[in-house]
Amino acid sequence: MRFFILLRRALRLRCPLCGQGKLFRGWLTMHRECPNCGVKFEREPGFFLGSIYINYGLTSLIVAIAYPVLLFGGFVAETPLLIGSLVFVVVFSLLIFPWARSLWLGFDQWRDPREGEIGTGRTKD
Ligand SMILES: [Zn+2]
Repeated sequence: MRFFILLRRALRLRCPLCGQGKLFRGWLTMHRECPNCGVKFEREPGFFLGSIYINYGLTSLIVAIAYPVLLFGGFVAETPLLIGSLVFVVVFSLLIFPWARSLWLGFDQWRDPREGEIGTGRTKD
């Protein structure tokens, strides 16, 4: 099924079109184009701003659930919890940065397909 193929490619940090080329050459540095099929990853200026929905959304969801549970459950005092939450927000956002961008690329390919998709069974419109 095409959705799961694109999701698998995104989680493996691979090109959504060919599934072979790596998206990143470093933790925070992307290739401009796929090393395998040559597709340009950034479709338009500001394209990756959409990945913030994933990164910020997941980070804030975790903190919004964990903070009150830990605080009102009496597991952690307020000041260490606040400091820990701030550290978590910064570190976790950096840790999931590649997957946030990759999932955004995959989502974009799923909802607004570009020509050249290989191996997903997609037929031309
Ligand atoms: Zn590719």
